[in-house]
Amino acid sequence: MLTTVSQANAYDVAMENFDSAADVMGLDKNTREMIKWPERMLTVGVPVRMDDGNIHRFTGYRVQHSSVRGPAKGGIRYHPQVSLDEVKALATWMTWKCAVVNIPFGGAKGGITCDPKKMSQGELERMTRRYTSAILPIIGPEQDIPAPDVYTNSQTMAWIMDTYSMTKGYAIPGVVTGKPISLGGSLGRNEATGRGVFSTIECACEHLHIPLKGATVAVQGFGNAGSITAQLLFDAGAKVVAVSDSTGCVYNKNGLNIPELIHMKSLCGHVDGFPEAEPILPHELLAMPCDILVPAALENTIHADNGSAVRARIIAEAANGPLTPAADRILESKGVFIIPDILCNAGGVTVSYFEWVQDEQHLFWEARDIYKRLDHVMKTAFRDVLKIHLEHNVSMRIAANMLGIGRVAEAVQIRGIYP
Ligand code: NAD
Repeated sequence: MLTTVSQANAYDVAMENFDSAADVMGLDKNTREMIKWPERMLTVGVPVRMDDGNIHRFTGYRVQHSSVRGPAKGGIRYHPQVSLDEVKALATWMTWKCAVVNIPFGGAKGGITCDPKKMSQGELERMTRRYTSAILPIIGPEQDIPAPDVYTNSQTMAWIMDTYSMTKGYAIPGVVTGKPISLGGSLGRNEATGRGVFSTIECACEHLHIPLKGATVAVQGFGNAGSITAQLLFDAGAKVVAVSDSTGCVYNKNGLNIPELIHMKSLCGHVDGFPEAEPILPHELLAMPCDILVPAALENTIHADNGSAVRARIIAEAANGPLTPAADRILESKGVFIIPDILCNAGGVTVSYFEWVQDEQHLFWEARDIYKRLDHVMKTAFRDVLKIHLEHNVSMRIAANMLGIGRVAEAVQIRGIYP
């Protein structure tokens, strides 16, 4: 299914996004120099004894793009395509994202180039613990706080928390977010990204006068972000007609039964073969006439070659960087309303922030408080971005970048340069 992905370099895309917004803002050269580049990049060797007795050396990364507004924050990805450039791009987007939702974090990202689907739990645990010990000098609750991303989860975070805590000699839950509840995780963190995506879709539908009830939806990627967004849209009465994951795509013109699809995926690990649906090809999902398209898989899935086929009215970027700049231009000229990633999927890091606050205070909140605060943060950020979009007549992506970059620029200008 990876055939739909373009080879565009995610870091080039991140830099192009930055320059476009900085140009519109008239950002001066010195401030650009201060905030554009990553502060710290660490590449580590991760030797792991595999179940067959052989040692395999993986390569891991942790990039801290910015700590200007607070500790660096960002997920850890396990995927065969992980590269330093990809991690740099994702870390850069985290900086602007945290600033867009105005939480006191900078941006970071980590990853290991590996194929987790071919590894046992034991191999994954040993790899995670060795990687943690390799990046340990630069992470910590006040310094850099990892979280789950593609093919990592709350169990991965538990191993990181345990490795870090054993080295320091006492339990330090605040070193990661997205932990299991029993270790100081937050209620609502698991579904936070999907909930945040949903809140921004509600705002976009209101702005465009599209009723959510009965709206048609296609979702590319059915993991944490995609499946929970689909569930919330289903609950709101939208018709989720097509869903894909790395194994295949399924379609039902009357709407898929999302709770049943989630149940099947949890049992067999794929959406392929869902009984009440017909199989379609990945490019057919992207070209589906629908109100809302939710790319929730990987970067660059919509690009120069397939962008013009998209027939959605709204694109809600649950994934990071799903559109290349070429696709952006094509879709903008077609009048598609794009909710950009650094706004759309910021619910995950927002509840990560809530989790970190709760860990630091040793005081835990109720789920309804978390959902309410999250919805408020997401809708405030949407309104802030929409205002810039309308006032400056720029795309929603440029508007979101202007908001995020502007807040980081202001912080760096006030802090000044050391020494
Ligand atoms: P996940 O591992 O839970 O799910 C990823 C899904 O994408 C899987 O269903 C996988 O099968 C599918 N997939 C992979 N390649 C595909 C392809 N070519 N076509 C269709 N489907 C494909 O990961 P996730 O946490 O849901 O992350 C998905 C995206 O959302 C990533 O871009 C991630 O950076 C972004 N994101 C996630 C969070 C979070 O809190 N989980 C927060 C912000 C952004």
